[in-house]
Amino acid sequence: MVYNKETQKRYYELHKEEILVKARIYHSKKQLTDKEYRKHRAIKTKEWIDNNREQFNLRMREYAHRNRLKCNARKMALIKITIPKNILCCVCSNNIATERDHRDYSKPLKVLFVCKQCNENLDHKQIKMSLIGE
Ligand SMILES: [Zn+2]
Repeated sequence: MVYNKETQKRYYELHKEEILVKARIYHSKKQLTDKEYRKHRAIKTKEWIDNNREQFNLRMREYAHRNRLKCNARKMALIKITIPKNILCCVCSNNIATERDHRDYSKPLKVLFVCKQCNENLDHKQIKMSLIGE
């Protein structure tokens, strides 16, 4: 098929409604705030996982294979280390700790008890180790 102005015009005429609906959705998405957009993406991702369960499982298996040390450490900590009740996050000391954080995956049983926000910061912003006395 040759794509020129004529065929594009014909395609537009045939699918006018559909194209306009898609454009409206695209432009309305652009007006979402960051938080709304993340929520929208999370729902879309969940839908994709539900519809592509086998492909998702395969990807997860490949991830676990590539990151064996990390996954084994997480699994071991999940089974063997319970987060003490009402313990404060050891980074910010403001929130209740709800997650375990590995600073070194080769020591799977050595974890820090942190809140969700601090765990994300530790992973993505690389808080200096001196701050948490490591
Ligand atoms: Zn914290």
